[in-house]
Amino acid sequence: MLSSERLAGERRILLVGLGLIGGSLAAALRAAGHRGEILACDRDSNEICLGQRMKLIDGGSTQLAGLVPGASLVVLCVPVMAMQGVMAEIAPLLDDDAVVTDVGSTKGAIRDAAIGVFGHMPPNLVLGHPIAGSEKSGVAASNPELYRDHKVILTPEPDSDPEAVARVAAMWSVCGAQLLDMSVARHDEVLARTSHLPHLLAFSLVDSLARQDERLEIFRYAAGGFRDFTRIAGSDPVMWRDVYLANRDAVLEALDEFEAGVARVRAAVTAGDGEAMLGIFTRASHARHYFNTLLKQTSYQTMEQQNVRYRALPGGQVQGRIRVPGDKSMSHRSIMLGALANGVTEVEGFLEGEDSLATLQAFRDMGVVIEGPHQGRVTIHGVGLNGLKQPPGPLYVGNSGTAMRLFAGLLAGQAFDTELTGDASLTKRPMDRVANPLREMGAVIDTAENGRPPLRIHGGQPLKGIRYEMPMASAQVKSCLLLAGLYAEGETRAIEPAPTRDHTERMLNGFGYKVERQGAEAWLTGGGSLEACPIDVPADISSATFFLVAAAITPGADLVLEHVGINPTRIGVINILKAMGADLSISNEREVGGEPVADLHIRYAPLKGIDIPEDQVPLAIDEFPALFIAAANAEGMTRLRGAEELRVKESDRIQVMADGLAQIGVEHEVVADGIDIRGGAYGGGLVDSHGDHRIAMAFSVAALRAQGEILIDDCANVATSFPNFVALASEVGMQVENLGAVAPGQEAS
Ligand code: NAP
Repeated sequence: MLSSERLAGERRILLVGLGLIGGSLAAALRAAGHRGEILACDRDSNEICLGQRMKLIDGGSTQLAGLVPGASLVVLCVPVMAMQGVMAEIAPLLDDDAVVTDVGSTKGAIRDAAIGVFGHMPPNLVLGHPIAGSEKSGVAASNPELYRDHKVILTPEPDSDPEAVARVAAMWSVCGAQLLDMSVARHDEVLARTSHLPHLLAFSLVDSLARQDERLEIFRYAAGGFRDFTRIAGSDPVMWRDVYLANRDAVLEALDEFEAGVARVRAAVTAGDGEAMLGIFTRASHARHYFNTLLKQTSYQTMEQQNVRYRALPGGQVQGRIRVPGDKSMSHRSIMLGALANGVTEVEGFLEGEDSLATLQAFRDMGVVIEGPHQGRVTIHGVGLNGLKQPPGPLYVGNSGTAMRLFAGLLAGQAFDTELTGDASLTKRPMDRVANPLREMGAVIDTAENGRPPLRIHGGQPLKGIRYEMPMASAQVKSCLLLAGLYAEGETRAIEPAPTRDHTERMLNGFGYKVERQGAEAWLTGGGSLEACPIDVPADISSATFFLVAAAITPGADLVLEHVGINPTRIGVINILKAMGADLSISNEREVGGEPVADLHIRYAPLKGIDIPEDQVPLAIDEFPALFIAAANAEGMTRLRGAEELRVKESDRIQVMADGLAQIGVEHEVVADGIDIRGGAYGGGLVDSHGDHRIAMAFSVAALRAQGEILIDDCANVATSFPNFVALASEVGMQVENLGAVAPGQEAS
C-alpha cells in the first residue's frame, strides 16, 4: 500500500504541542496533499490560533479532553520532560485503534515515562525522532520542507504492532523523510555523540566567552569560524535542558571521550608537538571530508546503491598527448610501505581514486600521520614495522581486492586484532587464497562463509616463514605472503606458477628491505626494517590500456601516453597489441624509483586476430576487457586461453564481457578458461558493467567503432581506478558522457 493511501485512512491526526516540530509536521502533511482532519493541542491558545490562520490545522484547544477521543493517530510534539504528563492525560481517553508516536530528541527517558504511565510499552506506542530542526521555535517557524530528505529514526519494540509501525512510517514518508530503525539505547548513544554533545559544547563555549566579557565586546570581532561553530548555541534552552536531563548517562559518556580528546590536543600544544597536532588535524579533516561526501552522496560507497550510466557515441577521435593517473598497485603499496618505514616518505603521482584513499584512511585509523593527498602528493610519517596502533573499528578497503589481500598479510603480524571489510562487490570475492597460506604461517584468521570477507585477524600470533607454492599466478597472494614475512621468523618464500607483477618486491628493495629472487621463487627474511624513500608513481599501464586500444582501433588516431610504468610483469598488453599489428612505439625509457617508465606512442593500424600467447596472460590480466574490444575490431578470430583468473576479478570478467559483446552484436564463444572473439562490424546497445570499472571503460572505447550509441550501466566504480576517465576521453576527442544516476536497464530517453 502506498504511504499516502495508508495515511488517508487516518480519521484524525492529533498533534500535542504545536511548536516548530508539530507545526512543521502539519505543514508538511498539508503540502503533501493530506486532506484528513488535523487538530492540535497546545498550552498556548495563541499558537493554536496562529496554526489555524496559517491553515496548518483544522482546529484545536488548550485542553486534551475534547480532542483525543476520535483521534486515530496522536503525535506527541512537546518537550521531552513534558511527555510523561501528556501520556498520563491521554491514556484514559484513547480510542482502541489509536496509534501514538512522539518526536522527542531522546528515547530512553520517554520509554521509561511510558512504562510509568501504562505499566508496559503498549504495542500501539511507537517512539520516533525526526533528525531535523532549527534554532527557532514556535509554530510561526513551521517549515513544510523541514523533513524532506531528512532521517526519521523509529525505535519499535519487539512486541510493537507492525501495523502501528507502518502507520507512523507512512506519516513520515509522506513528508519526504527517510526512515531508519534503531533500538532505544543505540539511538540515545548515537544522538549523544552527534547532536547532544556538539550543542553542549556550543552552549558552553559561548557562555564561557560571554562570562569573560560581560559587555560581549569580543563578539564584534568574531569571524566566520566562530559563527559556524556556535550557531547552535542559539537553540531553545528549555528543549536542551530537557535533553540533558533525559539523556544524562549517554551524554556524560560522550563528554568523557571528548575531554580525553581535548587532553590529547592540550598535551600536544603544551609540548609543542607539531607532529601529534598534525596527526589529530589530518585525521579530523579527512574524516570531515569523508563525512561531507557521504552527506552529498558523491562517493561510490553511497553511489554503489545507484546506477551511474555512461553514454558513449560512435565516431570520436583519439589524438594528442596525455598522462593517465598513477598506478593503482603502486599507490597502494607506497602508502603501506611508507607507513611501515622509519622516517618520512614523500609520494608523487599518487592515484587519488577511492580505493587508494580508503587505504590511506585505514593507516590513519592505525595511527599513521599522512598529509595530503594534494594534487598527487602525499607525505607519510612512517611509524616503523611495529608502530601501528589498533584501529577504533573495522578497516574499510572499498572495492579493492589488492588492498584487502595485502592488508591481510601485514595485519597477520600485528599485536592487535583487526577486521577488514569492503563494499558489496568485494564481499563476494575469495579470500581463502590468502587466508590459507597465512594460517600455515601461524596466523589466526576468520572469514565469512566460503572464505569471503569480512576477515577477522587475531593479533599477537607468532608467525614463521614458509615456502609456499602458489596454486594460482597471483601477485596479490605473493605480496600478501611477503608482507606477512616481514613479521615472520626465518625465510618466507613464494613460488609462482607463472610470472606476476613484482611491484612489492621492487618497492621493498627501494625501501632498503632485501627481497631475493631466483626463477619463479621470491623470498625475504623477517625481522628487518624499512627506511623511508621518495616515490614517483608512474602512470598506470592498466589505465593507459583503454587509450592504447582506443587509438589502435580508430582510423586517423595518433596519441602519446606519457610517463607510463612499463614494468616487465605488466607489459602483456603492449606485446599482445603489437602481435595484433598495432603501430606502437616506446620512447624516452628511464627508471624511476626502481620501476621502468616510458612514453608510449600509438597510431592507428589495422589489427588482425591472434591466438594470445598463454605466457602473456598473467602479464595482461587486468587489460583483457579492453583487449576484447581490440579483438572485436581485428580481422579474423582472436583466441584467449588459460585465463580462468579473470572469472574471480571485480566481476566474472569473461562472462560479463561476453554478455556485453552479445548486446552489441560481436560474434564470440565462451570457454571455461577464455573466449574466442571474431572481429567485424557491430552495433550499439545497452551494456551492464556489473560494477566493474574496467568493463565500463572498455565499452566506452568500443563505441568509437560502433554503429550506434552504447549505453553502459553501473559505472560508479570507474572512480576507483580512473577518476578523470571521462574528462581525459573527451580531451583526446572521444564522446563519452556521464549521465549520472539513471534507473538500471531503462532505455535511453
Ligand atoms: P517548541 O517549538 O517549543 O514547541 C513545543 C510546544 O509544545 C510549545 O508550544 C509548548 O508550549 C508546547 N507544550 C509544552 N508542554 C505542553 C503540554 N503539556 N501540553 C501541550 N503543549 C505543550 O519545541 P519544538 O522545537 O517543536 O520541540 C518539540 C519536541 O520536538 C521536543 O520533544 C524536542 O525534543 C523535539 N525535537 C526538536 C527538534 C528541534 O530542533 N527543535 C528536533 C527534533 C526533535 P509553551 O511554549 O507554552 O511551553
